[in-house]
Amino acid sequence: MTTWLIVADDAKVSGLLDLARALPSPLAAVVAGTRELADQVAGWVPAVTWFDTSAVPASGIASAVAGVVAADPGTVVAGMGVDSRLLAGAVAAATGAEVLADVIAAIPSGDGLRVTHLLLGGLATEEVGVIGPVVLVADGRTVPEPGSAAGTVTPAAADASVARVSTEPPAAAGGDLASAARVVGVGRGLKDAGDLSLVQELAAALGAELACSRPIAEGMGWLPTSSYLGISGQRIAPSLYLAVGISGQGQHMIGVRDARTIVAVNSDATAPIVAQADWTIVGDLYQVVPELTRALLVRS
Ligand SMILES: Cc1cc2nc3c(=O)[nH]c(=O)nc-3n(C[C@H](O)[C@H](O)[C@H](O)COP(=O)(O)OP(=O)(O)OC[C@H]3O[C@@H](n4cnc5c(N)ncnc54)[C@H](O)[C@@H]3O)c2cc1C
Repeated sequence: MTTWLIVADDAKVSGLLDLARALPSPLAAVVAGTRELADQVAGWVPAVTWFDTSAVPASGIASAVAGVVAADPGTVVAGMGVDSRLLAGAVAAATGAEVLADVIAAIPSGDGLRVTHLLLGGLATEEVGVIGPVVLVADGRTVPEPGSAAGTVTPAAADASVARVSTEPPAAAGGDLASAARVVGVGRGLKDAGDLSLVQELAAALGAELACSRPIAEGMGWLPTSSYLGISGQRIAPSLYLAVGISGQGQHMIGVRDARTIVAVNSDATAPIVAQADWTIVGDLYQVVPELTRALLVRS
């Protein structure tokens, strides 16, 4: 039996390693990506099977990855990125494994595992007992410090029926939210896509990156999906998070809870964000935001 790590999207695997190392079976990894990523993972895991995805997308190697795991089945730990979930699904289908999402802990218990995972987008947790093969999908969180496992990297090839023809780089999604010192987030308090310029001007005056709540990106499509913050979006840790017209639901606040200072602009003094913010300006964003921008520009 092997505990398998599936690494496909990036090297943010510290959360996956924490889960996998709590299990008794020896650890091995399947990496779908660059040789550089495979070498990085070999610093943490003693045996790495590497699929090069430079010419073949993850969907083209899914059954081959599943075959590697099925040859020596065991608990599988995978990240929440698109390719990781795709490969995790293929492995589960090939091995008849159960799939548990949003896993935060797993410990051996009797003949199986006791697994804790998030419910309701992180508002609640549930503990379940699992016997038999299982795929645990979890937040990889951060890139671990370089490891010293000096693992072997074994290249593997897939008889792929899918090949990459061309790739369009993503539309510019602004700067790097993860490392931004200041972030302005906008929510459904904004009434029209045309009004985005109001918060864009505020962000520019503040030297901040622009982000949003999920409905603004996924429902309205006013900003790229890479811009939304929360349990299923980006998590940030700026010194200042200025939330404009955002109610402060738990799923959003999980993404901003590491901000040093949270300031809210909201017309409703009873909105949940008021209790979670360090400061709140209770007022109509259509009045408050232009005034803030003007004040910042005058000051500079
Ligand atoms: C499984 C799951 C995962 C989810 N993941 C995420 C996630 O990762 N990120 C995320 O953001 N959401 C997520 N959600 C959605 C989340 O539950 C909320 O629905 C969402 O965050 C609400 O977005 P909002 O605050 O922009 O909108 P609303 O909740 O509609 O809030 C709008 C706010 O604007 C205020 N407002 C209105 N007009 C004005 C005005 N003129 N001036 C000032 N204020 C005004 C209102 O008082 C209100 O507080 C998830 C939900 C589920 C079920």
